[in-house]
Amino acid sequence: MISSLIRPNILKLKPYSSARDEFKGEASVYLDANENNYGSVTPNGVWNRYPDPLQWEVKEKLSAIKNVAKEQIFLGNGSDEAIDLLYRIFCEPGKDKALVFPPTYGMYQVSADINDVEILQQPLTADFQLPMSEIKSSEILNTEGLKLVYVCSPNNPSGNSINGEDIHYLLQNFNGIVVVDEAYIDFSDVPSWTTQLDKYPNLVVMQTFSKAWGMAALRLGMAFASQEIISLFNKVKPPYNINLSSQQQALEALNNKAQLDEFVKETISNRNDLVKQLQGLSLVKRIYPTDANFVLLEVDDAKARYNQLVEKGIIVRNRHSVVNNCLRITVGKREENELVVTALR
Ligand SMILES: *Cc1c(COP(=O)(O)O)cnc(C)c1O
Repeated sequence: MISSLIRPNILKLKPYSSARDEFKGEASVYLDANENNYGSVTPNGVWNRYPDPLQWEVKEKLSAIKNVAKEQIFLGNGSDEAIDLLYRIFCEPGKDKALVFPPTYGMYQVSADINDVEILQQPLTADFQLPMSEIKSSEILNTEGLKLVYVCSPNNPSGNSINGEDIHYLLQNFNGIVVVDEAYIDFSDVPSWTTQLDKYPNLVVMQTFSKAWGMAALRLGMAFASQEIISLFNKVKPPYNINLSSQQQALEALNNKAQLDEFVKETISNRNDLVKQLQGLSLVKRIYPTDANFVLLEVDDAKARYNQLVEKGIIVRNRHSVVNNCLRITVGKREENELVVTALR
């Protein structure tokens, strides 16, 4: 079933075979990759060897934490790499299509535009849930060439989780790939869709080290899917897409999951306090429920309030262009949250 969705050129692609692919054992002398065998021009000269192309050590640790087989994990240079690869694997440029539910993460659209893939849009409902009556009454899921559907849960910029039964409906009724982007899942009580991978061969779950793990600068994203889909990612990705430094830092992070749990606990506690304080402000018209590390709020005049905050040295995100008069505020440290509340007050 999946094979009928893959672009023909990718199906028959013979992937690049690196030196580290061709000899995988232990040896005393490596003269096969044109590396610098003397060292590297850095104070600690340990960067002269190409890294593991498939990052097995990291995936083994991740496998234990996420309860997903290591062969069902892809690591990318940010989730953005996974999004790009999905288009390159499944969507014929100028022909195939993807479906998104705005307002949502902008990269699904930008990456589609780069890959010359047409995006269909079906807006979320007023409470930012999937527009199920439109989905069910229209033929949109049967659109010729529609290969990918993106669901962001918790959704950016609204913050809410998408109803589980609606995602089940997509997985069961769409003859293509359903991508569930869980960039903010660590802040949510809703179980990850990785628990459903065995049930749905057309499911791809994306997560990231950029948010709760606090490693945005390293650029490390995850995709979880069937072994078949992950093999396609591995076939198409640049051979050494995750550098050694990122692999080492990821290993250290995964060995210290207690710190992640601490960050998450503190963030959620401060998020709840921030919401409470924002509720008392006259210029705040509405605060949307959030399962993420940010809050979307409707104010009287988003542009004016945004500019006033900038004048006070506080930068939030003006989302007026996607949700009328809304600001998106990331949950910061306690004192930062107090500053933004005081400024708005
Ligand atoms: C922040 C974010 C990501 C993370 O992207 P990276 O490339 O991994 O940093 C992915 N999806 C959504 C919806 C996000 O908000």
